[in-house]
Amino acid sequence: MIDFTLTEEHLAVQGLVKNFCAKEVLPNIRERDRAAQFDPTLLEKMGKADLLGLCLPKEYGGAGMDYVSLGLTCEEAEYADTSVRVIFSVHVGLVSLPILTWGNAKQKSQYLPGLASGKRIGAFGLTEPDAGSDVVGIKTTADRDGNAFVLNGEKMWISLADVADTMLVFGWTDRAKMKARDHSGLTAFVIERTMPGVTTHTIHGKLGVRAGNTGSISFADVRVPAENVLGEVGEGFKIAMFCLDQGRFTVASGATGLIRACLDACLDYSHTRKTFGQPIGEHQLVKEMIARMVAGFEYSRLLWLRAAWLKNIGKPNTRETALAKWIACEQSETAAADAVQVHGAYGFSDEFPVERFYRNSKGSSIYEGSREIQKLMQADYALGLRSDKPGRRELPVPIG
Ligand SMILES: Cc1cc2nc3c(=O)[nH]c(=O)nc-3n(C[C@H](O)[C@H](O)[C@H](O)COP(=O)(O)OP(=O)(O)OC[C@H]3O[C@@H](n4cnc5c(N)ncnc54)[C@H](O)[C@@H]3O)c2cc1C
Repeated sequence: MIDFTLTEEHLAVQGLVKNFCAKEVLPNIRERDRAAQFDPTLLEKMGKADLLGLCLPKEYGGAGMDYVSLGLTCEEAEYADTSVRVIFSVHVGLVSLPILTWGNAKQKSQYLPGLASGKRIGAFGLTEPDAGSDVVGIKTTADRDGNAFVLNGEKMWISLADVADTMLVFGWTDRAKMKARDHSGLTAFVIERTMPGVTTHTIHGKLGVRAGNTGSISFADVRVPAENVLGEVGEGFKIAMFCLDQGRFTVASGATGLIRACLDACLDYSHTRKTFGQPIGEHQLVKEMIARMVAGFEYSRLLWLRAAWLKNIGKPNTRETALAKWIACEQSETAAADAVQVHGAYGFSDEFPVERFYRNSKGSSIYEGSREIQKLMQADYALGLRSDKPGRRELPVPIG
């Protein structure tokens, strides 16, 4: 039986995030976006509201919720602003859940309670100045030296780079494999900001997500204890792909929230703005744009819900998650462009939020695997050029 009913718990978390954003985000989002100013106090407030440990088990201080809850959270967060959803994508999707799934007992007890409470903030460092989609093109090296690895390299376009203290970072532990582009030479590390040789820099002048923090991280002879390897040496690529399965899910559900924000803004405007003696919502071509937003929202939500369901039962979901990400992001770009159009010249200024939605919508078709990469994945699955390996590791099934 297929049941689309949201549980009381789902509705409660949806309401919690909505209220949180109404109080802490929406009152000053236009000014922060204008000033390109990240609000670091938001992280502390999110921690206090129990939002950062949402899907972590209670034994680590989390709320033990399922992945539908995470999707609904991301929807509501991006309904307010993309920068808020990015926090969930990175801190929860790309860092906390991977440590929960790949960490050993010591790492889990060392990192997860702090990540759940917001005392620790996570960042994910895969992209570099010369390599984004082409993961094996990264150049960060991690040479073994006794009981440690020495990291050198630079990560670029890293969300929360300036505020994170717990960074999940990928580098080559085998230089011969790096030369041969053999991804089994990549390893994942949990790096602490306090380790000597770690520096971060803010990226200015972004098109969108201006109220979010994006930066670069440099590693200059950073000595990382071997116990900070996540998973095994050589499992870095596998872990990075696992991380993206979770991050893409949060981007897909967030983009669905952005479509809904565009729709709601247009409904209000279409009832009040009049041309040729009638509300613009009564013109067929405006209706067409609204209809496209309705459809985009509905099928984006269905797609991320299916991915959430697979995650909840511990089944592989790379294909379904990537599909949800591609479609929801593409639909959110269309919805945001239409939303500006519906608002006419007013949509061209930040008097209305749709201008911000338009700029913010572009990023999601670039980060966490560009639109082209998601399309290639779908074709490769269909053509039998790609399949999920038996015995791969999935997210733990939520136990409440
Ligand atoms: C706001 C923002 C936040 C980000 N946060 C993070 C973060 O926290 N951590 C992190 O590690 N990274 C982050 N990124 C980086 C992001 O993941 C990369 O930008 C993304 O993976 C694409 O890589 P690239 O920019 O190097 O583009 P490239 O890989 O250079 O691609 C350029 C263009 O070529 C296309 N292309 C590439 N290869 C192919 C192919 N085989 N076939 C067809 N087309 C192809 C791409 O789709 C794209 O259109 C962030 C980026 C942004 C904009």
